[in-house]
Amino acid sequence: MSQLQPIKGTHDLMFEDIRRHRHVEETAFEVASRYGYGEIATPVFEFTDVFKRTLGDTSDIVTKEMYTFETKGGDSVTLRPEGTAGVARAFISGGLAQQTPLKFFYRGPMFRYERPQKGRQRQFHQIGVELLGVPTPQADIEVIALGAHILKELRLTGAVTLEINSLGDIESRAAYRDELVRYFSARTDQLSADSRERLARNPLRILDSKDPADKAAVVDAPRFTDHLNAASKDFFQQVQDGLAALDISFKVTPALVRGLDYYGHTAFEFTTDALGAQGTVLAGGRYDGLIKQMGGPVTPGIGWAAGVERLAMLLPELAQANRPIAVIPIGDEETKVALAVTNTLRHAGLSVDIAYSGNMGKRMTRANKIKAAFAVILGSDEVRDGVATVRNLDTGDQVKVAQADLARHLAAFK
Ligand code: ATP
Ligand code: MG
Repeated sequence: MSQLQPIKGTHDLMFEDIRRHRHVEETAFEVASRYGYGEIATPVFEFTDVFKRTLGDTSDIVTKEMYTFETKGGDSVTLRPEGTAGVARAFISGGLAQQTPLKFFYRGPMFRYERPQKGRQRQFHQIGVELLGVPTPQADIEVIALGAHILKELRLTGAVTLEINSLGDIESRAAYRDELVRYFSARTDQLSADSRERLARNPLRILDSKDPADKAAVVDAPRFTDHLNAASKDFFQQVQDGLAALDISFKVTPALVRGLDYYGHTAFEFTTDALGAQGTVLAGGRYDGLIKQMGGPVTPGIGWAAGVERLAMLLPELAQANRPIAVIPIGDEETKVALAVTNTLRHAGLSVDIAYSGNMGKRMTRANKIKAAFAVILGSDEVRDGVATVRNLDTGDQVKVAQADLARHLAAFK
């Protein structure tokens, strides 16, 4: 294999692709700021334990998907597969417990060793939020509303469905787990090998399996919502009432789980059917046990993460970017003047490209290619008279403008 190929499952982002990518990130951050979220950027790698402890030794990510290597110093480190573990680690190592509630927004690359396909890469990007220190349903409502608001700003409301579920409190979860084990134990012959293993270690995760045999066995499985105790039911009802009050539509999906012990109460996903099997664009839940499990102080938390590539694929076409101005000198002498003119216009805040070489025709072709709005033409007559010919490239109209007035003249069309 050629060493000059990108690594399988990674992509170079350029041109319109990166513009769409940035549009997702920047829109999300702008909306998150309105909700009081500040940005956090944690390192792209951490000690492997950070992920093992948060994601659990039996999760798919930890068992199959992590990029883990040993450093020269002999430490085991891992490229982050997701964002929550790093934020929780930063909360603990930074001693931030006294500062709750804390609201963090993050964005950046994540790494998972999985089979690349449409909407599934080995290096991909996420945006995400974490709200730490608020145990009440208000937090769940706000965090989901923020996700819905970002999708609305991205003009994706019509393309997605919000699904929610409750995993209840610890007591409800224990009772439900027993029910599930009873149900699946009577049907082990219908389960995949992976799920037979899950039955012993983490039966909840069978509900989340993508294996067709498991999916069939899950259809009639007992439902979480039928096993919630009174307090958990009340919590879930408050979340639903809050969403309804904000006019956010949702459907309750009993098989929606996050199969880790420290997840409880609300779990949610925004899904689409426009991306084939990779239908989840934004997913999250409440993780009140996580920070304690990592060795920090008891701190409730809730958050979500969204795949930037999947969102960028769904986006409608973006409005055209600001169009530049093309400065076009005709000969060598004029090129010197053109450099000075270009410099002045750029310092005046305009976006300006200069045609480096070629005859007039070639330079005009280049101006069209970069979708310039105006050409500023400098021939020998213009240079002699201290003016430039400004041509509107859409209408063909042109006027002569004193070089000293160019910035003011062009700024009016910005
Ligand atoms: P999936 O079911 O698609 O594997 P997941 O449950 O592993 O998703 P999360 O860990 O909840 O996903 O990550 C949140 C979001 O990140 C996903 O909903 C998806 O949009 C995105 N995502 C996850 N893995 C990938 C990947 N390999 N490539 C691109 N986007 C991804
Ligand atoms: Mg996955």
